Amino acid sequence: MSRSKFWDPTGEQFGMPTWPRKMAPDGYATRRQLRAMGLRPGGQPVAGQLLWRSRKARRSGGTGAAWLYLVELALPVRPMTPGKQAGLDAAMRKRRTCPQCDQVRDYCIPKSLGICVECQFADEDEYAFAA
Ligand SMILES: [Zn+2]
Repeated sequence: MSRSKFWDPTGEQFGMPTWPRKMAPDGYATRRQLRAMGLRPGGQPVAGQLLWRSRKARRSGGTGAAWLYLVELALPVRPMTPGKQAGLDAAMRKRRTCPQCDQVRDYCIPKSLGICVECQFADEDEYAFAA
């Protein structure tokens, strides 16, 4: 069995460390996998990606993709936030906090979506891969 064309741990070909689906090394997890562990990316940069052939992603050349994060940099889903830090901008902050990924965005979460733009396009970890 030959290695998948998506096997690129150095990121030489795809610009970031890339593995075929289900082949991510230990220590890496998708957002969904982090959530299953009670964790969230916590603002860390994307550490890599999974790519796979996908009928769903036909528009992007038939390639599905999901971002990978480092488990050791992930944070608990419910961070401890001292009440005092809530401060006067709590309401504003709440409007900018995505209920799905728990990240505070620099824009208000669109009411029509109910989630942040990143989540909207993530579609359960998946986004259109444009290469
Ligand atoms: Zn979100």
